[in-house]
Amino acid sequence: MPTLRLANLIDGRLQAPHHDAWLQVHEPATGAVFAICPDSSSLDVDTAVEAAARAAPGWANTPIEQRVHLLQRLADLIEARLEEFAALESRDSGKPLSLARRLDIPRAVSNLRYFAAAITGWSSESHAMETGMAGTGAINYTLRQPLGVVGCISPWNLPLYLFTWKIAPALAAGNTVVAKPSEVTPCTAALLGELSIEAGFPPGVLNIVQGRGPTVGQAIAEHPLVKAISFTGSTATGARIASMTAAQFKKVSLEMGGKNPAIVFADADLSDANLDTIVRSGFANQGEICLCGSRLLVQRSILEAFRERYLARVRSLRVGDPDDTDSDLGAMVSQAHYDKVLGCIEQARNEGGRVLCGGEAISLPGRCANGWFIAPTVIDGLSSAAQTNQQEIFGPVVSLIPFEDEAEALAIANDSRYGLAASLWTQDLSRAHRLAGQLEYGIVWINCWLLRDLRTPFGGAKQSGLGREGGSDALQFFTEPKNICIRY
Ligand code: NAP
Repeated sequence: MPTLRLANLIDGRLQAPHHDAWLQVHEPATGAVFAICPDSSSLDVDTAVEAAARAAPGWANTPIEQRVHLLQRLADLIEARLEEFAALESRDSGKPLSLARRLDIPRAVSNLRYFAAAITGWSSESHAMETGMAGTGAINYTLRQPLGVVGCISPWNLPLYLFTWKIAPALAAGNTVVAKPSEVTPCTAALLGELSIEAGFPPGVLNIVQGRGPTVGQAIAEHPLVKAISFTGSTATGARIASMTAAQFKKVSLEMGGKNPAIVFADADLSDANLDTIVRSGFANQGEICLCGSRLLVQRSILEAFRERYLARVRSLRVGDPDDTDSDLGAMVSQAHYDKVLGCIEQARNEGGRVLCGGEAISLPGRCANGWFIAPTVIDGLSSAAQTNQQEIFGPVVSLIPFEDEAEALAIANDSRYGLAASLWTQDLSRAHRLAGQLEYGIVWINCWLLRDLRTPFGGAKQSGLGREGGSDALQFFTEPKNICIRY
């Protein structure tokens, strides 16, 4: 198959990078190069930001109906080519094709449609001041105006899903965008860029600059014309972006790492369906979801029985060619990440952890012989303070930790520098409410996981996040409020 050649989208045109430098894009399931992607420089970013700045006044003044029409048209075009997008996403990231088809691409379409609808129904505040003794009163109303040019930087784990989660509210709110997908998974964003031309977005409204984080990402974050940065990725990069942008007082929204607890109480309804969800919460997308419950806290009174059923279910997960419909897990996204996850498993062993299942790389026959596959791994025997229970592994590795009672469960769950998402399994409603209030997490799921309503605030506490995405939070982030007070 010929190598796919991706392009930047700048000023409404598909363009090669200024320096004609290219990065290789690997297929994780085979290890082979299947595409090349622009290795753009700060010159490309400058050109994109200048195009976005030229387009900003026109786009801000474009009637909402027209912006909405274009977002919906883009959603329609992606949906019409859902199979192509899903195949590309799976090939680029190593995730099962069935997952890309069921989750990633439909969610990207929903993101565009949701924010098209949300901006239509959005309203701003008005505050009336009472008429005083002198017979004068006042009315305040708040304008929420677009910021101008904004930067969107997204990671490799849910490529199109998270890319659209940022660009949709930014564009809906009237901003022009310079966006950078991860160089590890650049393909579906590039295809979206092509479709944005077909949809009819004016030149410069959406620009996509491909390339490396420390080059392209940094140039976007530091550019003085870029008014805000919406970032999703690791806490280390988030911290870098926070310090890069601080001196310019840019708005930043940071969605970062997680080390999430899934807490199972003895009174939980552990039906097969719920057990499946608990297993999925650890291993979906090879554990490469920031929301995965990688610390599985289980009440000691049910530990043994639960562990047996849980392990049986985990052992039955099939790691295979992402193209096969019966593969539950595909390949790790890159050789570097594969090495990192295997290193974490080794570290768990060195810390005294007991590997209950998995714990090794998997070799597959045939076309996937050189792919980066790891068996779903469950470890126990480590304290909450162990590195394995503190650092984000971001792979198919779950650590089992027993607890006695509610107080201990809460203490272990909160014993983390991260605070993204917790899940709680119990039939005791009072306990559920009590704990939900005390868990230091931005999201708490009770008797479910990854159940998402796009209107709700999404994001983490502590070192998992700064700000919230989703719903009106995203629209507020991408606008500047201006209060106008009229005395009468
Ligand atoms: P990452 O290395 O931090 O990269 C994220 C994005 O930032 C990529 O586009 C990356 O580009 C870019 N980048 C890297 N260095 C940069 C710099 N110096 N300046 C500006 N941009 C830079 O994270 P990742 O490994 O792709 O993603 C995994 C992490 O994302 C995990 O920690 C996971 O928990 C987190 N995540 C969080 C959420 C959430 O909602 N909280 C969702 C998904 C993932 P390159 O890839 O091209 O280097």
